[in-house]
Order: sequence, then C-alpha cells, then structure tokens
Amino acid sequence: MEMRIGGRETVSPDERWIDVLNPATGEVIDRVPAGTADDLASAVEAAAEAGTGWKKRSMRDRGMIFFHAAAKVREQHKALGQLLTMEQGKPLREAIDEVRGFANILEFYAGISAQVGGEAVRLGTAGDCMVIREPLGVCGAIIPWNMPVLIMGWKVGPALLAGNTMVLKPASSTPLTSLRLAQVLDEAGLPPGVLNVVTGSGEEVGEALVTHPQIKKVSFTGNGLTGARVRELAAPGNKELILELGGSDPMIVMDDADIGKAVEGAVRGRFYNAGQTCTAVKRLIVHEKIAPAFTRLLKERVSALNVGNGLGPKTDMGPLVSAAQRDRIAGVVETVREQDDGKIVTGGCILRGKAYENGFFYHPTLVTDVAPTSSLVNEEIFGPVLPVMTVANPDAAIAAANATPFGLGASVWTKDLATTKKVFDEVHAGIVWVNRHLTVPPEIPFGGTGESGSSRENGHHAVDQYSRTKTLFLGW
Ligand code: NAD
Repeated sequence: MEMRIGGRETVSPDERWIDVLNPATGEVIDRVPAGTADDLASAVEAAAEAGTGWKKRSMRDRGMIFFHAAAKVREQHKALGQLLTMEQGKPLREAIDEVRGFANILEFYAGISAQVGGEAVRLGTAGDCMVIREPLGVCGAIIPWNMPVLIMGWKVGPALLAGNTMVLKPASSTPLTSLRLAQVLDEAGLPPGVLNVVTGSGEEVGEALVTHPQIKKVSFTGNGLTGARVRELAAPGNKELILELGGSDPMIVMDDADIGKAVEGAVRGRFYNAGQTCTAVKRLIVHEKIAPAFTRLLKERVSALNVGNGLGPKTDMGPLVSAAQRDRIAGVVETVREQDDGKIVTGGCILRGKAYENGFFYHPTLVTDVAPTSSLVNEEIFGPVLPVMTVANPDAAIAAANATPFGLGASVWTKDLATTKKVFDEVHAGIVWVNRHLTVPPEIPFGGTGESGSSRENGHHAVDQYSRTKTLFLGW
C-alpha cells in the first residue's frame, strides 16, 4: 500500500519500502513506502492547504462525514478486521471489535458535534460574551502497533471534529489498516488533505513530524522512552503535546469477590491482544484467603487458551507482533527463572512446532510467588505473562498497586463499597474499574498519571485538547 498525502496515494521518489509481515506466519503480506522528512513536509503542506476550507465547515458538516465514514467502516468490518489480524496478529474477533470501536468513536464525535462549539456567557450590565472553540491548525499524530485502529480513532475523531487537519504516522509494523481507514474517510467525503498518513520510521518520519514548525500539536502514543525523546524534541518549539505512555495496571481481587468472574476478568485482562494492551492487567494482586482457589482456577483457564493464527476460528490468543517483541518477553521470563524471582506455574516458553512455524508465538504464562524486586512487577511487561502477588488486606493491596511509577488503569474486584471507594481514592490511575477491566468506550476520558502520561483522550474532553477558546466580549 502507498502513503496518503493530499487524498492521493503517494510513493517517495527514491522508492524505498518497508515490508509488512504477518506475525502468525512470518510472511511478507505487503509493503509501504519508507517515507522521508520531505514526504512529511509535503503532507504538512497538504494539511495546511486543506485547513483553510475545513475549519470554515460547520461542526455538523464535519460530523456528517464521520457518520458516513462510520457506516462504510461497519459495512467493511470483516475485511478491515482481517487486514488488522494479518498485520498485527490479534484474533479476528478482537480485530473486528477494534474496527467497530473505530466506527463507535466516529459516531460519538459526530453525535456531540452540536455541543462542543462554544458557549455564551451573560455578564449583566457589563455585557455578554461568546466563547468559541477554534482549531489549532495542523496536528500531528504518532501511533503504536498494539491497537492501531482504536488509537487512530482517539486522535482523528476529536482533532478533525474540532476543525484541525492532521498528519498521522502509523507504526511500521502495522500501517495497513490505518492507510485503508484513511481511504475510507476520504471516500466518505473528507476533503483531500484533511487527513494524511505518512509511513516510515520513527527516527525519520516521527522526528520530522515532532519538529515540523507548522505542526501545532503532537499527539503521541507509545512507550515511555520514545515519549521522553518526543518531549525533548518538542521542547525548543514549545510545541503542545499529548503523551499517552505505558502502564502496569494492577488488578486487585479481594476476598469477597466473585472468583469465577474475577478469573475471567484476569484472563481477558491479560491475554487479550496477547497481552499487548496499554491497560492490560499487568499485575494481579489477590487476597491471601482466596489466593489458592483463585490461582488454581486461573491456571486451568490459562493453560487451556488456544494459541494460533488469529484467523483461525478457535483462536483465543494470537502471536506477538514481532520476533523482537516475542524475544523480549522470553528474555524477561528467562531472568525470572535464573534469578528465582517467581514460580512459573504454566507456560514460560516460546511456542514451537508445525502450527507455530515462522510465527512469533509465546506460551500464555502465569507466575506466582513473585519477588517484589522482579522486573515482572516493576516494569511494563508487554506480552502474555501474568504475575500474581498475594496480600492480607486492602491497605497492602493499595500499597502494592501504587508500587510502580505508572498510573494508567487499575481495577478492584469486590462487593464492598467501602473498599471500592478506598481503592478509587488512593490508587494512582486515570481510570479505576470495579468488577471489570480493560473496557474504554468512546464516551469516557482516558489517560494516566505519573510515567503513563498526563493527557486525556476520548470523551468530549478530547475536543478541548485540540482547540482553544477565543472570546468575543460585547460591551453593550
Ligand atoms: P514506540 O514508542 O516504540 O512506538 C510508537 C510510535 O512512535 C511508532 O509509530 C514509532 O514508529 C514512533 N517512534 C519511534 N521512535 C520515534 C522517535 N524517535 N520520534 C518520534 N516517533 C517515534 O511504542 P510501541 O512499542 O509501538 O507501543 C507500545 C507502547 O505504547 C507500550 O508502552 C504501551 O503501553 C503504550 N501504549 C499506551 C497507550 C495509552 O493510551 N496510554 C495506548 C497504547 C499503547
């Protein structure tokens, strides 16, 4: 597939390409241009040109294009889901969910289009004010490979609705569905240049995007190290940033929890998308009274997960996105083994054999008796490995939950209101789920604290992130 700049498919003049692999088979399924700083500059130019007309359109007009695009996405959900599975590896069911999630986001922003334009303020004899929200101009978006469709929606939806235009850079391993969705938006009536997708490396295209003087705001989702680089690059231009970084979400299971539901929550929370989700359950904190029964059930469920090609009808978990990602996970588990940092109850190895040949599969893994110093509970583990810790009471659970520099999401599984309130008040996180984990519908703001970042995406609040107020003061 080719980049989309100014509503057209584009190839760099020097014709350099990046292969896109299917992580389930290791086969090359397509290629995209290895874009350059010049391509990025052309995309900014196209976006700036399109911005003049786009910002004059009414919110309603912009919203109607989103409605049309969402309908097309729904019509094509199967093909889009298959494409996502083939480039990213996740089971088709999850990929289709994500594609539908993109449509939900567009519909949500289309639906609020009449409510986010501004407000009137009456000041009595002093006068009246009209406070409007105006767009920022050309915005940049950099997205990761783990949820490329959903995260594209979180950025494109509010930014375009607010009247900005955008240049988006997908991750090099998963550019295909983003390119296809940009095409669908164009087909739905988005004027050429309002959304441009430039493929290429982070070092070349990503850095050119962050430092381009005409890009007013950069929304970046990715890991903390890259986020720090983005922050450093953006500082001289005083550029506005949205940084959505990693997480190490705790799931706290108290002794009054419904064990069956909590086990299902933990399995989905950790092994959905092969554990490669920012708000995955990355640390399981279980009350000691129920820990033996809970762990036994959990082990049964984790051992029974069906791992395979995401296109297979019975697949519960697909491969990791790349060989590098799989090897990183294998390395972390090897260290646990070597340093006796925990007890590997099931899994703990790369999956080999005919069904897994050339794919990047790792065994769903459960580790108990985890040492508090282990990287399993102190770093973000972005793969299918679930560490379990036990605690004696809610205070100990909260202390364990807060023992990392991250603060993205957290969940507590209990029937007790007082425990719920205590966890909500005291755990560092942008969202606290009760008897649930992972779900982030478009209506609610999403983002973290600490090393998980400090911005918010999603919900009507996100429109504020991509616009600023301007006030007309009428002194009668
Ligand atoms: P990454 O930081 O390696 O890459 C993210 C994007 O940044 C890619 O498009 C990449 O090409 C680009 N990039 C790389 N180097 C760059 C540079 N020097 N300048 C500009 N751009 C550059 O992240 P990843 O490994 O693809 O994604 C996984 C991480 O993302 C995890 O830490 C996960 O928790 C996090 N994440 C966070 C959220 C959230 O909303 N908080 C959501 C999803 C993923």
